[in-house]
Amino acid sequence: MAIRQLSENIINQIAAGEVIERPASVVKELVENALDAGARRVELATAGGGLSLIRVVDDGKGIPPQELPLAVSRHCTSKLSDNIHDIRSLGFRGEALPSIGSVARLSMRSRPHDADSAAEIIVDGGKLSPVRPVASNLGTVVEVRDLFFSTPARLKFMKTERAEASAITDVVKRISLAFPSVRFTLSGTDRTMLELPAVSEDGDGLLRRIGQVLGKEFSDNALPIDAEREGVRLTGYTSIPAYSRGNALNQFVYVNGRPVRDKLIAGAIRAAYMDALPRDRHAVTALFIQLDPELVDVNVHPAKADVRFRDPGLVRGLLVGAIRQALGTSGTRSSTSGAA
Ligand code: ADP
Ligand code: MG
Repeated sequence: MAIRQLSENIINQIAAGEVIERPASVVKELVENALDAGARRVELATAGGGLSLIRVVDDGKGIPPQELPLAVSRHCTSKLSDNIHDIRSLGFRGEALPSIGSVARLSMRSRPHDADSAAEIIVDGGKLSPVRPVASNLGTVVEVRDLFFSTPARLKFMKTERAEASAITDVVKRISLAFPSVRFTLSGTDRTMLELPAVSEDGDGLLRRIGQVLGKEFSDNALPIDAEREGVRLTGYTSIPAYSRGNALNQFVYVNGRPVRDKLIAGAIRAAYMDALPRDRHAVTALFIQLDPELVDVNVHPAKADVRFRDPGLVRGLLVGAIRQALGTSGTRSSTSGAA
């Protein structure tokens, strides 16, 4: 076969393979878009574990009708100018909507705040429909139906509806901790899974949101963290040693509002608790790292959950120091022998 350029739809399906792993990845991308649009209210509805339907309604700034075709086109974004090092939004790749549109039936209805009418675009397995006027409230409604209908191989890898639904709930919980002043609701076919009223942006609000999401037991057993080193700020809450878990799944860490998973951070948390917790126990944390976007690279993987810090030692030192100080173990030397 001679070398040729792949079709737009195949390119989008390849991108979808990396970005859209399961229904929860669609939810993550759509909620990020709503938050980037400044939404104060994000309402999610799902059916069939998100495989038959995911609907996200937001009251954000909306998309003008003439921009709807761009919104669903590859490499089109309103969030990134020409400096890849200055990323202040959750999205920046211009890849989520075209990817979703290539592996599902996607409809987007939007009405910007300065417009008196709304418009809709549909992408069905990669095929774009013309934009048409519709009736809609201010903000944006995105519906994704029949996820992976055009990529049956991926569909086969889905777990039970229940497992997919619970992964969706986890994604919404995780991101909601970074946006306490946004109201989130999530419903399944026959029940409400989450209802998180808006609370204030400050530490009190955060503690209330943590209580809503991780349970009051954690917020009652959490120590506040607030530290800064060379312009890198660390805030949030971390559990007292008596309140620990058998796994590290409840360590929520954010970099500039973005939920991340990072070995360096996980290692720093472990090191900070070394004197306080046995090896097989793990702290519960909700920690927020705030730093100049130029000092961290978020363009590591299409799912945007990995980060690389320009100065990893600084971040590690800040985490270990601040957590130990909160635990009151900052004076002790860590040792595995247990000798004082
Ligand atoms: P990215 O988020 O990386 O820019 P997406 O494919 O997720 O890429 O979205 C493309 C564009 O569509 C965004 O840059 C934004 O301008 C617009 N958009 C998507 N969702 C929304 C929304 N809920 N509200 C307002 N604009 C949106
Ligand atoms: Mg996006």
